[in-house]
Amino acid sequence: MAQAQAAVQNTLRNDFSLLIDGELAGSAERLDVINPATGKAFAQCPAASRADLDRAVAAARRALPAWSALSFAERTEFIKRMAGILRANQDLLGELLTREQGKPLGQAKDEIARAAGQSEGITQISIASDLITDDAERRIEVRYVPLGVAGIITPWNAPINLAAGPLVSALYTGNTVVVKPSPYTPLSTLKIGELIKDVFPKGVVNVLAGGDALGQWLTEHPGIDKIAFTGSVATGKKVMASAAGTLKRVTLELGGNDAAIVLEDADPQVVAPKLFFAGFVNSGQVCMAVKRIYAHEKIYDALCAALVEEARKWTVGDGLDAATKLGPIQNRMQYDKVVDLLNDTKKTRAKFLIGGDVPQTDGYFFNPTLVTDVDEKSRIVREEQFGPIVPVLKFTDVEDAIRRANDTRYGLSGSVWSKNIERATAIAARLEVGTAWVNQHRATAANVPFGGAKESGVGRVYAEMGLKSYMEPRVVSVLKQPM
Ligand code: NAD
Repeated sequence: MAQAQAAVQNTLRNDFSLLIDGELAGSAERLDVINPATGKAFAQCPAASRADLDRAVAAARRALPAWSALSFAERTEFIKRMAGILRANQDLLGELLTREQGKPLGQAKDEIARAAGQSEGITQISIASDLITDDAERRIEVRYVPLGVAGIITPWNAPINLAAGPLVSALYTGNTVVVKPSPYTPLSTLKIGELIKDVFPKGVVNVLAGGDALGQWLTEHPGIDKIAFTGSVATGKKVMASAAGTLKRVTLELGGNDAAIVLEDADPQVVAPKLFFAGFVNSGQVCMAVKRIYAHEKIYDALCAALVEEARKWTVGDGLDAATKLGPIQNRMQYDKVVDLLNDTKKTRAKFLIGGDVPQTDGYFFNPTLVTDVDEKSRIVREEQFGPIVPVLKFTDVEDAIRRANDTRYGLSGSVWSKNIERATAIAARLEVGTAWVNQHRATAANVPFGGAKESGVGRVYAEMGLKSYMEPRVVSVLKQPM
């Protein structure tokens, strides 16, 4: 009995399949998946071919009429079952996520729980028709109908959260889906596909792993009506251009270069741990991480000292070690990019408050690094670092801080920190971003729209606004005159 259970656990841990038309499927091509803590491949999974994609899209189209005919309440029941399965498999999925993504196990498990909670949260949002006119002469209303088949393309930093949001949004609003995780982190998403195989009717959910080419095939595919893309600005532009060929609807959730502005009345001891968390959790690989800190000159030195004090508490290591608070950078490409930014910063007059050295190991480890005295035009300020290195910049006049915070093509989010809530709110409202926070950063919820201004994205996810991006508005206009 125990042996049989162990065999099941091993199969769950080590075998990975695509999900096409309600069946698990292999493929001739395979992908190696690397554990970023060791730099070595620890598993393989199938990589979908163009023919696999055609089969998945055909299955999703076949499943569409019956699925879209269900009510929101009926579809909610399926989604609740999925959320229950995520929770029941939190340990297994969390461990898998840590192995492929690198984040500490506790945070990986939190990601699974959050995906379950957000999924249920989405089903609390109601979508109603808009009644424009209803008088003796005419009735005009706007109904919202499913778009059709949604293609969901996700990145490697939070693969489960960033799949669950669009997946559930698309399903709840009556669409069927094809999900494609990043080639760096395909396993936990494939495993979820396997675990929910019998929850949804055949073809409603299809999961295909594959490289960047598979992503492009999705954006070109005539059988797909919408692309929900989360990833870099550069790829987002390619996705939009490619989707234009079939005029697919797109939601683009892209990169950011979030500024946090700390005013002179903020208490550095209180603010520093929160800012550090927002900048460094998941080793800074968060779209809405704090990527630039602007501190008023009066509290600048005290804030720098408090940030260093906090940084010392964050142990770097393998995410499976209980002591680890910062895992490795997720992949070699990103690690090289962050090391390159570090080396570029070292060439300037910048001073390192802490960090700045790179451990020589096979894993992609990088010590938390805080840097000051950097030029506003330097790459570490201008570019999205997406890693555990954050510049702390000084300001005297808050107008100057706002100007510098806004002087970027990014516009995902930003925050202002102060004891004076009213003043902070007024300043936050002037940030050119999709979300401006006061005395917090990274606070999102299923009922609050999230997305980027400027080049940080197109459209919004979550809330009624996000859900409606999976629907076509259809005006039904009736002249109440018998013919
Ligand atoms: P990426 O753009 O390299 O890849 C994202 C996904 O796109 C992957 O699945 C990849 O295979 C696929 N892809 C690559 N080329 C493609 C193409 N031509 N057509 C279609 N798909 C293609 O991004 P990444 O490096 O995986 O993720 C990091 C980036 O994602 C960062 O910039 C980060 O800020 C951003 N991000 C944004 C949000 C948000 O909500 N705004 C959330 C998380 C991450």
